[in-house]
Amino acid sequence: MTTEPLIPLAVPDLSGREEEYLRACIASTFVSTVGPFVPRFEEQVAAAIGSRGAVATCSGTAGLHVALTALGVGQNDLVVLPSLTFIASANAIAQCGAQPWLFDVTQESWTLDPELLERRLAADTERRPEGLFHRPSGRRIAAVMPVHTLGLPADMHAIVPVARRYGLPVVADSAAALGATCRGKPPGALGADLSVLSFNGNKTVTAGAGGAVVGDDPELLALVRHLSSTARVGQDYDHDRPGFNYRMTNLQAAVGCAQMERWESLVAAKRRIRHRYDQAFAGLEGVEPFPAPPWVEGACWFSGIVLRSPTWEGREAVLRSRLRELGIDSRPFWKPVHLQAPYRNAPCTEMPVCEELWLRVLTLPCSAGLTDAEQDRVIAALLQAFQST
Ligand SMILES: *Cc1c(COP(=O)(O)O)cnc(C)c1O
Repeated sequence: MTTEPLIPLAVPDLSGREEEYLRACIASTFVSTVGPFVPRFEEQVAAAIGSRGAVATCSGTAGLHVALTALGVGQNDLVVLPSLTFIASANAIAQCGAQPWLFDVTQESWTLDPELLERRLAADTERRPEGLFHRPSGRRIAAVMPVHTLGLPADMHAIVPVARRYGLPVVADSAAALGATCRGKPPGALGADLSVLSFNGNKTVTAGAGGAVVGDDPELLALVRHLSSTARVGQDYDHDRPGFNYRMTNLQAAVGCAQMERWESLVAAKRRIRHRYDQAFAGLEGVEPFPAPPWVEGACWFSGIVLRSPTWEGREAVLRSRLRELGIDSRPFWKPVHLQAPYRNAPCTEMPVCEELWLRVLTLPCSAGLTDAEQDRVIAALLQAFQST
Protein backbone atom coordinates (compact mmCIF):
# COMPACT_ATOMS: atom_id res chain seq x y z
CA MET A 1 0.00 0.00 0.00
CA THR A 2 0.99 3.59 -0.50
CA THR A 3 0.04 6.83 1.19
CA GLU A 4 0.58 8.84 -1.96
CA PRO A 5 -2.49 10.08 -3.85
CA LEU A 6 -3.88 7.89 -6.64
CA ILE A 7 -2.69 8.88 -10.10
CA PRO A 8 -5.81 8.72 -12.28
CA LEU A 9 -5.90 7.32 -15.79
CA ALA A 10 -6.97 10.44 -17.68
CA VAL A 11 -8.34 13.70 -16.31
CA PRO A 12 -8.89 16.92 -18.28
CA ASP A 13 -6.49 19.87 -18.18
CA LEU A 14 -8.75 22.94 -17.77
CA SER A 15 -6.01 25.45 -17.02
CA GLY A 16 -6.73 27.73 -19.98
CA ARG A 17 -9.64 30.13 -20.48
CA GLU A 18 -12.37 27.54 -19.82
CA GLU A 19 -13.69 29.27 -16.69
CA GLU A 20 -13.58 32.73 -18.27
CA TYR A 21 -15.57 31.56 -21.30
CA LEU A 22 -18.11 29.72 -19.16
CA ARG A 23 -18.68 32.86 -17.10
CA ALA A 24 -19.20 34.78 -20.35
CA CYS A 25 -21.94 32.29 -21.31
CA ILE A 26 -23.75 32.74 -18.01
CA ALA A 27 -23.44 36.53 -18.13
CA SER A 28 -24.83 36.59 -21.67
CA THR A 29 -27.61 34.06 -20.88
CA PHE A 30 -26.62 32.11 -24.03
CA VAL A 31 -26.37 28.72 -22.39
CA SER A 32 -28.19 26.60 -24.97
CA THR A 33 -27.49 25.76 -28.62
CA VAL A 34 -27.50 29.37 -29.81
CA GLY A 35 -24.46 31.46 -28.96
CA PRO A 36 -21.14 32.69 -30.30
CA PHE A 37 -18.96 29.86 -28.99
CA VAL A 38 -20.64 27.20 -31.14
CA PRO A 39 -19.67 28.56 -34.59
CA ARG A 40 -16.28 29.58 -33.22
CA PHE A 41 -15.67 26.03 -32.00
CA GLU A 42 -16.76 24.63 -35.37
CA GLU A 43 -14.25 26.86 -37.17
CA GLN A 44 -11.44 25.86 -34.81
CA VAL A 45 -12.19 22.16 -35.22
CA ALA A 46 -12.47 22.28 -39.03
CA ALA A 47 -9.14 24.11 -39.29
CA ALA A 48 -7.36 21.73 -36.91
CA ILE A 49 -8.68 18.58 -38.57
CA GLY A 50 -8.07 19.73 -42.15
CA SER A 51 -11.71 19.84 -43.33
CA ARG A 52 -13.75 22.58 -44.98
CA GLY A 53 -16.47 22.56 -42.38
CA ALA A 54 -17.68 21.15 -39.06
CA VAL A 55 -21.01 20.67 -37.31
CA ALA A 56 -20.75 20.50 -33.52
CA THR A 57 -22.89 17.86 -31.80
CA CYS A 58 -23.77 16.95 -28.20
CA SER A 59 -21.56 13.84 -28.26
CA GLY A 60 -19.37 11.80 -30.57
CA THR A 61 -21.96 9.02 -30.61
CA ALA A 62 -24.65 11.48 -31.70
CA GLY A 63 -22.26 12.74 -34.39
CA LEU A 64 -21.76 9.20 -35.71
CA HIS A 65 -25.51 8.56 -35.72
CA VAL A 66 -26.33 11.73 -37.63
CA ALA A 67 -23.40 11.24 -40.05
CA LEU A 68 -24.54 7.70 -40.91
CA THR A 69 -28.12 8.89 -41.30
CA ALA A 70 -27.03 11.71 -43.62
CA LEU A 71 -25.22 9.17 -45.81
CA GLY A 72 -28.36 7.06 -46.12
CA VAL A 73 -27.73 4.26 -43.61
CA GLY A 74 -31.11 2.91 -42.52
CA GLN A 75 -33.23 -0.01 -41.40
CA ASN A 76 -31.68 -3.48 -41.88
CA ASP A 77 -28.51 -2.19 -43.56
CA LEU A 78 -25.00 -3.36 -42.71
CA VAL A 79 -22.07 -1.06 -41.96
CA VAL A 80 -18.50 -2.38 -42.08
CA LEU A 81 -16.83 -1.76 -38.70
CA PRO A 82 -13.65 -3.04 -37.03
CA SER A 83 -14.55 -5.09 -33.96
CA LEU A 84 -11.79 -3.45 -31.93
CA THR A 85 -13.52 -0.18 -31.09
CA PHE A 86 -15.43 1.51 -28.34
CA ILE A 87 -19.02 0.22 -28.23
CA ALA A 88 -20.34 3.66 -29.26
CA SER A 89 -19.29 3.07 -32.89
CA ALA A 90 -21.53 0.00 -33.05
CA ASN A 91 -24.33 1.67 -31.10
CA ALA A 92 -24.51 4.51 -33.62
CA ILE A 93 -25.00 1.90 -36.36
CA ALA A 94 -27.69 0.12 -34.34
CA GLN A 95 -29.46 3.44 -33.71
CA CYS A 96 -29.92 3.70 -37.49
CA GLY A 97 -31.74 0.35 -37.41
CA ALA A 98 -28.68 -1.17 -39.08
CA GLN A 99 -26.15 -3.76 -37.91
CA PRO A 100 -22.35 -3.74 -37.92
CA TRP A 101 -20.49 -6.19 -40.16
CA LEU A 102 -17.50 -6.73 -37.91
CA PHE A 103 -13.91 -7.04 -39.18
CA ASP A 104 -10.60 -7.87 -37.58
CA VAL A 105 -7.78 -5.32 -37.30
CA THR A 106 -4.12 -5.55 -38.26
CA GLN A 107 -1.47 -6.37 -35.68
CA GLU A 108 0.65 -3.40 -36.86
CA SER A 109 -1.91 -0.66 -36.36
CA TRP A 110 -4.91 -2.04 -34.41
CA THR A 111 -7.09 -0.59 -37.20
CA LEU A 112 -9.37 -2.07 -39.91
CA ASP A 113 -7.46 -4.55 -42.08
CA PRO A 114 -7.72 -3.27 -45.68
CA GLU A 115 -6.74 -6.61 -47.25
CA LEU A 116 -9.35 -8.46 -45.24
CA LEU A 117 -11.90 -5.82 -46.28
CA GLU A 118 -11.06 -6.30 -49.93
CA ARG A 119 -11.19 -10.12 -49.62
CA ARG A 120 -14.53 -10.25 -47.82
CA LEU A 121 -16.17 -7.70 -50.11
CA ALA A 122 -15.04 -9.75 -53.11
CA ALA A 123 -16.19 -13.07 -51.61
CA ASP A 124 -19.37 -12.19 -49.70
CA THR A 125 -21.14 -9.47 -51.67
CA GLU A 126 -23.11 -9.05 -54.85
CA ARG A 127 -24.19 -5.98 -56.76
CA ARG A 128 -27.86 -5.43 -57.41
CA PRO A 129 -29.63 -2.40 -58.88
CA GLU A 130 -30.47 -1.22 -55.32
CA GLY A 131 -26.87 -1.44 -54.14
CA LEU A 132 -24.26 -3.80 -52.77
CA PHE A 133 -25.60 -6.79 -50.83
CA HIS A 134 -24.07 -9.10 -48.24
CA ARG A 135 -24.87 -12.54 -49.62
CA PRO A 136 -24.97 -14.56 -46.35
CA SER A 137 -27.44 -12.20 -44.60
CA GLY A 138 -29.20 -10.69 -47.61
CA ARG A 139 -28.68 -7.21 -46.17
CA ARG A 140 -27.63 -4.11 -48.08
CA ILE A 141 -24.16 -2.79 -47.20
CA ALA A 142 -24.57 0.94 -46.68
CA ALA A 143 -21.17 2.29 -45.54
CA VAL A 144 -17.67 1.56 -44.28
CA MET A 145 -16.66 2.95 -40.89
CA PRO A 146 -12.93 2.74 -40.19
CA VAL A 147 -11.87 3.71 -36.65
CA HIS A 148 -8.73 5.68 -35.85
CA THR A 149 -7.90 3.51 -32.83
CA LEU A 150 -6.74 5.61 -29.87
CA GLY A 151 -5.98 8.39 -32.35
CA LEU A 152 -3.88 6.19 -34.65
CA PRO A 153 -5.29 6.65 -38.17
CA ALA A 154 -6.57 3.62 -40.06
CA ASP A 155 -4.84 2.97 -43.39
CA MET A 156 -7.25 5.22 -45.28
CA HIS A 157 -5.01 5.26 -48.37
CA ALA A 158 -5.84 1.57 -48.78
CA ILE A 159 -9.38 1.49 -47.34
CA VAL A 160 -10.99 4.42 -49.18
CA PRO A 161 -10.19 3.17 -52.72
CA VAL A 162 -11.67 -0.25 -51.87
CA ALA A 163 -14.85 1.37 -50.51
CA ARG A 164 -15.10 3.58 -53.62
CA ARG A 165 -14.71 0.61 -55.94
CA TYR A 166 -17.72 -0.96 -54.25
CA GLY A 167 -19.67 2.31 -54.25
CA LEU A 168 -19.69 2.61 -50.45
CA PRO A 169 -19.52 5.91 -48.53
CA VAL A 170 -16.93 6.19 -45.74
CA VAL A 171 -17.55 7.60 -42.26
CA ALA A 172 -14.35 7.71 -40.19
CA ASP A 173 -14.75 7.32 -36.44
CA SER A 174 -12.07 9.90 -35.68
CA ALA A 175 -13.15 10.24 -32.05
CA ALA A 176 -9.63 10.70 -30.67
CA ALA A 177 -7.72 11.53 -33.85
CA LEU A 178 -7.27 15.29 -33.45
CA GLY A 179 -3.55 15.95 -33.95
CA ALA A 180 -2.82 12.72 -35.86
CA THR A 181 -1.41 12.58 -39.38
CA CYS A 182 -1.39 9.77 -41.94
CA ARG A 183 1.25 10.02 -44.65
CA GLY A 184 1.57 13.68 -43.71
CA LYS A 185 -2.14 14.47 -43.94
CA PRO A 186 -4.49 15.41 -41.08
CA PRO A 187 -7.51 13.16 -40.32
CA GLY A 188 -9.97 15.39 -42.20
CA ALA A 189 -7.99 15.05 -45.44
CA LEU A 190 -7.88 11.24 -45.69
CA GLY A 191 -10.77 10.78 -48.11
CA ALA A 192 -13.72 9.96 -45.83
CA ASP A 193 -17.05 11.53 -46.79
CA LEU A 194 -17.52 12.49 -43.15
CA SER A 195 -15.34 12.13 -40.07
CA VAL A 196 -16.59 12.30 -36.51
CA LEU A 197 -14.71 13.54 -33.45
CA SER A 198 -15.50 13.19 -29.77
CA PHE A 199 -14.91 15.85 -27.12
CA ASN A 200 -15.92 13.68 -24.18
CA GLY A 201 -14.30 14.38 -20.81
CA ASN A 202 -11.59 11.75 -21.17
CA LYS A 203 -10.49 12.73 -24.69
CA THR A 204 -7.33 14.80 -25.26
CA VAL A 205 -9.45 17.86 -26.05
CA THR A 206 -12.78 18.08 -24.26
CA ALA A 207 -15.97 20.11 -24.23
CA GLY A 208 -17.24 18.23 -21.15
CA ALA A 209 -19.25 16.17 -23.59
CA GLY A 210 -19.50 16.82 -27.30
CA GLY A 211 -18.66 15.83 -30.81
CA ALA A 212 -18.18 17.20 -34.30
CA VAL A 213 -18.99 15.94 -37.77
CA VAL A 214 -16.44 17.26 -40.26
CA GLY A 215 -16.16 17.07 -44.03
CA ASP A 216 -15.55 18.92 -47.28
CA ASP A 217 -18.96 18.73 -48.96
CA PRO A 218 -21.04 21.80 -47.96
CA GLU A 219 -24.33 20.15 -48.96
CA LEU A 220 -23.65 17.04 -46.90
CA LEU A 221 -22.66 19.17 -43.90
CA ALA A 222 -25.81 21.25 -44.32
CA LEU A 223 -27.83 18.02 -44.20
CA VAL A 224 -25.99 16.96 -41.01
CA ARG A 225 -26.75 20.35 -39.46
CA HIS A 226 -30.38 20.12 -40.54
CA LEU A 227 -30.84 16.60 -39.17
CA SER A 228 -29.09 17.41 -35.88
CA SER A 229 -31.39 20.37 -35.20
CA THR A 230 -34.87 18.78 -35.50
CA ALA A 231 -34.93 19.07 -39.33
CA ARG A 232 -36.62 22.42 -39.05
CA VAL A 233 -37.47 24.41 -42.17
CA GLY A 234 -38.00 28.14 -41.80
CA GLN A 235 -38.38 29.97 -38.49
CA ASP A 236 -41.52 28.31 -37.17
CA TYR A 237 -42.66 24.82 -36.27
CA ASP A 238 -42.20 23.27 -39.66
CA HIS A 239 -40.09 20.11 -40.01
CA ASP A 240 -39.50 18.03 -43.12
CA ARG A 241 -38.47 14.66 -41.61
CA PRO A 242 -37.81 12.99 -38.24
CA GLY A 243 -34.82 14.96 -36.98
CA PHE A 244 -32.56 14.76 -33.93
CA ASN A 245 -31.83 17.13 -31.09
CA TYR A 246 -28.07 16.64 -31.28
CA ARG A 247 -26.69 20.20 -31.24
CA MET A 248 -23.84 21.21 -28.96
CA THR A 249 -24.65 23.90 -26.39
CA ASN A 250 -22.84 27.21 -26.07
CA LEU A 251 -21.70 26.06 -22.59
CA GLN A 252 -20.01 22.98 -24.03
CA ALA A 253 -18.55 25.01 -26.88
CA ALA A 254 -17.16 27.58 -24.41
CA VAL A 255 -15.06 24.85 -22.79
CA GLY A 256 -14.29 23.42 -26.23
CA CYS A 257 -13.07 26.78 -27.58
CA ALA A 258 -10.71 27.25 -24.63
CA GLN A 259 -9.40 23.73 -25.15
CA MET A 260 -8.99 24.21 -28.91
CA GLU A 261 -6.80 27.25 -28.28
CA ARG A 262 -4.33 24.79 -26.77
CA TRP A 263 -4.97 21.62 -28.77
CA GLU A 264 -1.46 21.42 -30.14
CA SER A 265 0.18 21.56 -26.73
CA LEU A 266 -2.34 19.06 -25.31
CA VAL A 267 -1.52 16.60 -28.11
CA ALA A 268 2.21 17.27 -27.69
CA ALA A 269 1.88 16.40 -23.99
CA LYS A 270 0.19 13.10 -24.92
CA ARG A 271 2.97 12.27 -27.37
CA ARG A 272 5.64 13.03 -24.84
CA ILE A 273 3.98 10.72 -22.30
CA ARG A 274 3.87 7.93 -24.92
CA HIS A 275 7.53 8.44 -25.71
CA ARG A 276 8.59 8.33 -22.07
CA TYR A 277 6.68 5.09 -21.41
CA ASP A 278 8.09 3.50 -24.57
CA GLN A 279 11.62 4.36 -23.48
CA ALA A 280 11.15 3.27 -19.87
CA PHE A 281 9.75 -0.17 -20.77
CA ALA A 282 11.85 -0.85 -23.87
CA GLY A 283 14.01 -3.47 -22.16
CA LEU A 284 11.23 -5.23 -20.28
CA GLU A 285 10.89 -8.93 -21.12
CA GLY A 286 7.60 -9.84 -22.81
CA VAL A 287 6.39 -6.25 -23.04
CA GLU A 288 5.68 -4.40 -26.27
CA PRO A 289 4.82 -0.75 -26.89
CA PHE A 290 1.57 0.47 -28.45
CA PRO A 291 1.77 0.36 -32.26
CA ALA A 292 3.59 3.07 -34.21
CA PRO A 293 3.52 2.19 -37.93
CA PRO A 294 5.91 4.33 -39.99
CA TRP A 295 3.19 5.87 -42.19
CA VAL A 296 1.30 7.55 -39.36
CA GLU A 297 1.85 9.88 -36.50
CA GLY A 298 -0.77 8.93 -33.93
CA ALA A 299 -2.43 11.37 -31.57
CA CYS A 300 -1.51 9.10 -28.62
CA TRP A 301 -4.84 9.53 -26.81
CA PHE A 302 -4.06 6.65 -24.46
CA SER A 303 -0.72 5.03 -23.69
CA GLY A 304 0.35 1.83 -22.02
CA ILE A 305 1.87 -1.55 -22.74
CA VAL A 306 1.06 -4.84 -24.45
CA LEU A 307 1.79 -7.94 -22.36
CA ARG A 308 3.12 -10.31 -24.99
CA SER A 309 4.76 -13.03 -23.01
CA PRO A 310 2.60 -16.17 -22.51
CA THR A 311 3.17 -15.97 -18.76
CA TRP A 312 0.93 -12.90 -18.71
CA GLU A 313 -2.03 -14.63 -20.29
CA GLY A 314 -5.08 -13.84 -18.16
CA ARG A 315 -2.98 -12.19 -15.47
CA GLU A 316 -3.37 -8.59 -16.45
CA ALA A 317 -5.98 -8.17 -13.67
CA VAL A 318 -3.36 -9.22 -11.08
CA LEU A 319 -0.98 -6.59 -12.38
CA ARG A 320 -3.71 -3.99 -12.24
CA SER A 321 -4.53 -4.66 -8.62
CA ARG A 322 -0.82 -4.51 -7.71
CA LEU A 323 -0.65 -1.11 -9.42
CA ARG A 324 -3.73 0.01 -7.56
CA GLU A 325 -2.04 -0.82 -4.25
CA LEU A 326 0.85 1.33 -5.36
CA GLY A 327 -1.52 4.24 -6.07
CA ILE A 328 -1.66 3.91 -9.85
CA ASP A 329 -4.86 3.68 -11.88
CA SER A 330 -4.77 1.48 -14.98
CA ARG A 331 -7.38 0.00 -17.29
CA PRO A 332 -7.80 -2.90 -19.69
CA PHE A 333 -8.68 -2.21 -23.32
CA TRP A 334 -11.92 -2.28 -25.32
CA LYS A 335 -13.64 -5.66 -25.35
CA PRO A 336 -14.23 -6.33 -29.05
CA VAL A 337 -17.74 -5.59 -30.33
CA HIS A 338 -18.38 -9.15 -31.58
CA LEU A 339 -18.00 -10.40 -27.99
CA GLN A 340 -20.53 -7.89 -26.63
CA ALA A 341 -24.07 -9.12 -25.87
CA PRO A 342 -25.95 -6.75 -28.22
CA TYR A 343 -23.77 -7.64 -31.22
CA ARG A 344 -23.21 -11.36 -30.75
CA ASN A 345 -25.30 -12.15 -33.82
CA ALA A 346 -23.80 -9.51 -36.08
CA PRO A 347 -21.97 -10.95 -39.09
CA CYS A 348 -18.23 -11.02 -38.51
CA THR A 349 -14.93 -12.21 -39.94
CA GLU A 350 -12.47 -14.43 -38.14
CA MET A 351 -10.92 -12.38 -35.31
CA PRO A 352 -7.45 -13.78 -34.56
CA VAL A 353 -5.83 -10.39 -33.95
CA CYS A 354 -8.37 -8.59 -31.81
CA GLU A 355 -9.30 -11.63 -29.75
CA GLU A 356 -5.69 -12.09 -28.78
CA LEU A 357 -4.94 -8.43 -28.36
CA TRP A 358 -7.61 -7.00 -26.10
CA LEU A 359 -6.70 -9.18 -23.11
CA ARG A 360 -3.07 -8.13 -23.30
CA VAL A 361 -3.35 -4.35 -23.33
CA LEU A 362 -2.87 -2.32 -20.18
CA THR A 363 -3.51 1.44 -20.38
CA LEU A 364 -1.59 3.64 -17.96
CA PRO A 365 -2.10 7.17 -16.60
CA CYS A 366 -1.76 9.62 -19.48
CA SER A 367 -3.49 12.90 -18.59
CA ALA A 368 -2.09 15.80 -20.60
CA GLY A 369 -1.26 17.43 -17.25
CA LEU A 370 0.69 14.42 -15.92
CA THR A 371 4.02 15.68 -14.56
CA ASP A 372 7.34 13.93 -15.17
CA ALA A 373 7.53 13.16 -11.44
CA GLU A 374 4.09 11.53 -11.54
CA GLN A 375 4.96 9.56 -14.65
CA ASP A 376 8.20 8.41 -12.99
CA ARG A 377 6.07 7.12 -10.10
CA VAL A 378 3.93 5.15 -12.59
CA ILE A 379 7.04 3.72 -14.25
CA ALA A 380 8.64 2.71 -10.94
CA ALA A 381 5.38 1.14 -9.76
CA LEU A 382 4.99 -0.87 -12.95
CA LEU A 383 8.56 -2.16 -12.74
CA GLN A 384 7.96 -3.11 -9.10
CA ALA A 385 4.61 -4.77 -9.88
CA PHE A 386 6.30 -6.77 -12.62
CA GLN A 387 8.93 -8.11 -10.26
CA SER A 388 6.40 -9.11 -7.62
CA THR A 389 3.65 -10.56 -9.85
C1 LIG B 1 -14.90 8.30 -27.35
C2 LIG B 1 -15.25 7.46 -28.51
C3 LIG B 1 -16.54 7.48 -29.07
C4 LIG B 1 -17.74 8.12 -28.44
O1 LIG B 1 -17.72 9.46 -28.23
P1 LIG B 1 -18.70 10.10 -27.14
O2 LIG B 1 -18.41 11.56 -27.29
O3 LIG B 1 -18.31 9.57 -25.80
O4 LIG B 1 -20.09 9.76 -27.51
C5 LIG B 1 -16.77 6.75 -30.24
N1 LIG B 1 -15.80 6.02 -30.80
C6 LIG B 1 -14.56 5.96 -30.28
C7 LIG B 1 -13.52 5.14 -30.98
C8 LIG B 1 -14.24 6.66 -29.11
O5 LIG B 1 -13.01 6.57 -28.61
